[in-house]
Amino acid sequence: MENKKTVLVIGAGPAGISAAKSLANDNISVTVLEKEDTFGGNINNWAKLFPNFKDAGEVKSSLIQNFVNNQNIKIVYNKKVTELKKHNQKWIANTSDGEVFESDAAILSTGFKVFDAQYKEELGYGIYPNVITSVEFEKMYKNGKILTVQGSVPKKIAFLNCVGSRDEKVGNHYCSRICCIAAVKQAIEFKELYPQSEAFIFYMDIRMAGQFYEELYRKSQEKHGVVYIRGRISETSSTIDKKVQIKAEDTLAATPLRMTVDMLVLMIGVEASKSTTILSKQNNIDGPYGFAKSKDIHTADNYSNENGLFLAGSCKRPLTLTETIADGKSAAISVVEYLKQTK
Ligand code: SF4
Repeated sequence: MENKKTVLVIGAGPAGISAAKSLANDNISVTVLEKEDTFGGNINNWAKLFPNFKDAGEVKSSLIQNFVNNQNIKIVYNKKVTELKKHNQKWIANTSDGEVFESDAAILSTGFKVFDAQYKEELGYGIYPNVITSVEFEKMYKNGKILTVQGSVPKKIAFLNCVGSRDEKVGNHYCSRICCIAAVKQAIEFKELYPQSEAFIFYMDIRMAGQFYEELYRKSQEKHGVVYIRGRISETSSTIDKKVQIKAEDTLAATPLRMTVDMLVLMIGVEASKSTTILSKQNNIDGPYGFAKSKDIHTADNYSNENGLFLAGSCKRPLTLTETIADGKSAAISVVEYLKQTK
């Protein structure tokens, strides 16, 4: 009987799915351990994707083709890996409910979590009901309406970039890379729904480094009239009718600024997920900010310093969905190379 190689994939988000499918195509037996009761990870939080407004559900459907019913892939839900260790050339994963899984190699595809906006108390999230996060905006948009807590269409909405990113106070110096373009996308979506309303984006600087991002940024201004204000909001408060009062500084005009909006959307950044941090530390591959550290960012980005342990997707750093899916495939190629050497 054929002695098939086995690989554990930890996390069934876009990177894990993509990696598992590629490995399965190579006739490798893959076990995917997912802590939630479903697959897809953060893709489930999106309604439409930047920069082309493609339906996130459609992208997910095409991503999972050949994943769910693949005879080489076993998906195990509600399995939180609490320990991952190498023992006698095998990778052993222990789960919170006491199960043990073993394989010839393992891929960490434990993704990211979003910044908890309550840490930025001055912005009023969790205090003022019309201060929401970009994830909550996306959920509302999925349901077809953006409404204030009073049930009315916001006449004025503001988006605040860099919440929990590029922020010394919260200890995250890095840029999350996806929130500038997400703000542009959400502002356009808002204006398409409610052309009579006004939309403002507060930014430190606008980072449009992806294909078609710059075009979308221009379109948001020229076609939809989105207004960009360079400045950080320092404080929010509430009016008696639950509007949000913003205190900021317009750093281009060098003047303090006050504005009252019906809704404030906080563009929350990307952080390492708890599983990423815990499992990386256990294997001495933890990098800055709790992300996992690859062997070499240029030439061995899917390898870790632990032989047989590979990295895929945003467990390493903030990545776009496009990059994440490609990175899953790339990790699978690295695993196949490794398994050939260990025959
Ligand atoms: S992508 Fe934009 S909003 Fe996000 S952290 Fe970077 S500069 Fe700030």
